[in-house]
Amino acid sequence: MTEETIFTKIIKHEIKSDIRYQDEDVIVFADIAPKAKIHLLIVPTKPYPTVNDIPAEEIGIVSKMFLIAQKMAKELNIDESGYRLVINCNEDGGQEVPHLHMHLLGGENLSFNFIT
Ligand code: 5GP
Repeated sequence: MTEETIFTKIIKHEIKSDIRYQDEDVIVFADIAPKAKIHLLIVPTKPYPTVNDIPAEEIGIVSKMFLIAQKMAKELNIDESGYRLVINCNEDGGQEVPHLHMHLLGGENLSFNFIT
């Protein structure tokens, strides 16, 4: 659970990124290769590698990620137009970075876009 990833370095501000929100539990930054006009990553500061690795007693982090997604969507004024939240898990799920994260995609119609 302590593997260093690019996201760990972003959390520690060792690598530059476009940070939109940060508190002790969660950071939000813009995806470096956006798949939609708005593409943010909502990332727990604790480096759970995947969804599989969140212990039951820490599952509250998922609620917090959703609350931050709500807040970001409202701030970006896409809460009513709509957006997509995606969490990929492991290889078949298309997960590239082994540090749990939620994609927030929006700012355009994504009906025919299944790729994150
Ligand atoms: P995954 O495929 O693991 O669900 O998503 C990983 C996401 O992280 C990808 O959308 C990718 O573009 C993004 N990403 C990878 N490296 C970096 C980076 O160094 N900075 C930022 N901001 N995003 C990154």
